[in-house]
Amino acid sequence: MPTTDPTPFVCVLCGLSVSDPGPDHQPRDHCPSCLGSRHVHDQHDGGASDCDGRMTPISVVVPRDGRWRLVHRCVRCDELSESAVASDDNPLVLMRIAVRPLAEPPFPLETLGEV
Ligand SMILES: [Zn+2]
Ligand SMILES: [Zn+2]
Repeated sequence: MPTTDPTPFVCVLCGLSVSDPGPDHQPRDHCPSCLGSRHVHDQHDGGASDCDGRMTPISVVVPRDGRWRLVHRCVRCDELSESAVASDDNPLVLMRIAVRPLAEPPFPLETLGEV
C-alpha cells in the first residue's frame, strides 16, 4: 500500500516527534510509541484525504504471513485504515490492543463450557 504520509512528523496523540524511518526503512504511517496516526490518506480513493482527523489504533489483524497489521479508526469520520506493524512499535501497546477482545468478551465466559 503506497503512503503519502511524510516522515518526520509529530504525533498528534502523544506529541512524540517521529523523525527517523525506523529499522524497517519503511515510511512510518503511525507513531511507534502510542501507535496513533492521522487521517491523511484516503483509503477509498487512494489519494490524500482532507479529513486530517486523529486515528486511534483499535485492533490488530494477522494475515497468513503472520506479520501483524494495525487497524486504525479515524475519530472524526470513522474511516478504517490498515498498516504494517513496524518492528520497533511499542509491544506493550500492541499487546494491550490485541488482548482487549479477550479481556472483554461480549458474552459470559461460562457459556464456552456449555457449547
Ligand atoms: Zn504517539
Ligand atoms: Zn477521517
